[in-house]
Amino acid sequence: MGAPFLRRGAEVTKGNKRFDEEYDIVVIGAGIGGLTCAAYLAKNGKKVKVLEQHYAPGGCCTSFSRKGFRFDAGVLHLTGGKESGAFQRVLSALEMEGEIEFKEQFQRIVFPDLSLDSSRDVEYLPERLKEMFPHEAEGIARLFVTIGSIYEDIKKLPTLSPLLAEYKEKSFQELVDNYIGDTKLKALVTANWHLWHPMWRNSAIDYAAMLITEPLRGYYYPMGGIQAIPDAFVRVLKRYGGDIEFKTSVDKIILEEGKAVGIETRGGKRIWAEQVVSNAAARCTFFNLIG
Ligand SMILES: Cc1cc2nc3c(=O)[nH]c(=O)nc-3n(C[C@H](O)[C@H](O)[C@H](O)COP(=O)(O)OP(=O)(O)OC[C@H]3O[C@@H](n4cnc5c(N)ncnc54)[C@H](O)[C@@H]3O)c2cc1C
Repeated sequence: MGAPFLRRGAEVTKGNKRFDEEYDIVVIGAGIGGLTCAAYLAKNGKKVKVLEQHYAPGGCCTSFSRKGFRFDAGVLHLTGGKESGAFQRVLSALEMEGEIEFKEQFQRIVFPDLSLDSSRDVEYLPERLKEMFPHEAEGIARLFVTIGSIYEDIKKLPTLSPLLAEYKEKSFQELVDNYIGDTKLKALVTANWHLWHPMWRNSAIDYAAMLITEPLRGYYYPMGGIQAIPDAFVRVLKRYGGDIEFKTSVDKIILEEGKAVGIETRGGKRIWAEQVVSNAAARCTFFNLIG
């Protein structure tokens, strides 16, 4: 049996440990992951508090202003928006479809001597690339057959097909190199994702799948900018009774007999919770907050 509780106002004493607040669940970080988790828990009747170190919610999915211009910090668009896919399922489960208005978005990749538009037709990209690089037509056709097969095999997971087994540890660069040689063609095939990692660091399976899902589901952008997404999650979290605090960095996850029982903020506030959810990166959670 755990140590008895003494409560004085919001303050809680457990054994000889003093806590300033008590919640069912504390969520460290108001990224899209933390906000989604917190909103689900609050909707299901849990007393939840989210603590975010930044002044705004969203993590990689935030916007900021400089000299009168508004910039999106990371996320550019959502595949599927609220039409299809995982994000649509989250919006529906939280009954928040009306909170965000999406517009379908198209992209144009512009190089000095050529450009390539995005399309909702899955066949468009390989066909257009074959027109632009006729000397690579056969390799392009074979590359996209493999990409299509990877996409189909992913649906059969956890059964690992020979194709997925072949590429599971490989980069997208290695996949592409098996089929095509033209450097400019390779740059076009991977142009969308250079902003994250060079293609030798991108997973072959992940990016092959994205080449299919993005045209199938389309790109969507929220009206008002990317910040509209986390702002909507915060409204919904509060509607379900959840709390959120900004500019509050969590320094430590408090453990008792190997179990997380709360957190301590940089300012020294201690919050007791039945469960602690960390939306911070795994390395930060295990080496800084626990270690
Ligand atoms: C440049 C870039 C572009 C991208 N473009 C797209 C895109 O177009 N479409 C798409 O779908 N995805 C895109 N992604 C991926 C997407 O941004 C991420 O998958 C997603 O935002 C991750 O959300 P998260 O909640 O897991 O983590 P994060 O967004 O990292 O959120 C973690 C949160 O925890 C907070 N935190 C961490 N430590 C503490 C602490 N100790 N105390 C308090 N708070 C803490 C952080 O401040 C942050 O707010 C992009 C990513 C990047 C980097």
